[in-house]
Amino acid sequence: MSILTTSPAAVRARSAALDGWQAELRAAIRDPRRLCEALGLPLELAHAAGTSAAAAEFPLFVPASFLRRIEPGNPHDPLLRQVWPGPEEASPSPGFVLDPTADARYAVAPGLLKKYAGRALMVLTGACAVHCRYCFRRHFPYDETPATEAAWNVALQAIEADASIREVILSGGDPLTVTDPRLARLAARLAAISHVERLRVHTRLPVMIPSRVTAALADWLSGTRLTPVMVIHANHARELDAEVAAALQRLRTAGVQMLNQAVLLRGVNDTVEAQEQLSLRLVALGVTPYYLHQLDRVRGAAHFEVPIDQGRTLLAELRRRLPGYAVPQYVQEQPGALHKVVLS
Ligand SMILES: *Cc1c(COP(=O)(O)O)cnc(C)c1O
Ligand code: SF4
Repeated sequence: MSILTTSPAAVRARSAALDGWQAELRAAIRDPRRLCEALGLPLELAHAAGTSAAAAEFPLFVPASFLRRIEPGNPHDPLLRQVWPGPEEASPSPGFVLDPTADARYAVAPGLLKKYAGRALMVLTGACAVHCRYCFRRHFPYDETPATEAAWNVALQAIEADASIREVILSGGDPLTVTDPRLARLAARLAAISHVERLRVHTRLPVMIPSRVTAALADWLSGTRLTPVMVIHANHARELDAEVAAALQRLRTAGVQMLNQAVLLRGVNDTVEAQEQLSLRLVALGVTPYYLHQLDRVRGAAHFEVPIDQGRTLLAELRRRLPGYAVPQYVQEQPGALHKVVLS
């Protein structure tokens, strides 16, 4: 994290040469004290021993456009809770492990996972536009440099050799931290593989930095013969402000099918009201609530866990209040299962 020791002026100078969204990534807040200052929170929060330990393990990372949606002066804000390195992360939590999904065993080539029928998931980069404290990838080595295009060749060859793969999912990290020219070349190469029919992107970037939804992005995603699908990741209705709405509208106009996945998180979205508002906001923006994930049991995230029984009760109530298409499937990742396991 060399940028921590770089002066703000140097960061600004370097950022001037980049696209808006890249400059925003570079300028993201990485220091808990700066986040406290920006939000009018007591600096003691940043100085708590547990916070520096948590931030040393998985650095704080918050872009400015997300920061603007966090309520100032509220240490319990549901958006802040998703990104704040709290002392709770160090609490002992039996059963919470470093790699809960054990995804490595499904690697069919470097950077290519095939876990479920017909779909292969390409891990393009380890970089993200935000560090979510509950993320199951929080213990992966953070790497700002996306994998090289040469490294993607091996994955592309594996996709070409397996005619059962009908859908390719671009994932990470966040695949949209990769630049549009590189992604456009990748989309074209996938479209050249005749058995591939759909191109899906799993990303949190349109929510974190809506200016990432450039014209070039809409072009490469919807400009090949592949059916374009995007799964965004929003956990709370307040993440979806007017700027995000406009970005999502640009994708819909380009013909991209839009879905959302969320994670059920204690203190963030574990009430019927929070889930109802999230679903209604998504539907209003033309995004279908797809999955609500049970938390993966990753070390450091135990304080986010909601018991499955409580989750099921919540979903039952949601079903009483909303049309069927506004209720996500409540799912859990289970190693060895042939698909995500539906809990409700
Ligand atoms: C979730 C996931 C998928 C996609 O599953 P869907 O149920 O189609 O959304 C594919 N590959 C991996 C490794 C996944 O974790
Ligand atoms: S954006 Fe996604 S992959 Fe990145 S830290 Fe958040 S949940 Fe994890």
